[in-house]
Amino acid sequence: MEIVRCGHCGRKLAEAEFVRLAIKCPRCGTLNTLKAVEPLTRAPRAPDCECYDGKTNCPVGGRQTPPG
Ligand SMILES: [Zn+2]
Repeated sequence: MEIVRCGHCGRKLAEAEFVRLAIKCPRCGTLNTLKAVEPLTRAPRAPDCECYDGKTNCPVGGRQTPPG
């Protein structure tokens, strides 16, 4: 269950599970259109390799400057 609040005045409008929802606030009259937030199943993109910190010369994560 997710608590739906008015984006304008913050009044609690409903508790619901929804994919998309349009609900009008009885207090201020704002029509709130909401979309359920998808769960973050994907982790932030991992660095390409362990030496991502840039200190190490890495063919994947670091930029190698050609000698000379
Ligand atoms: Zn409101």
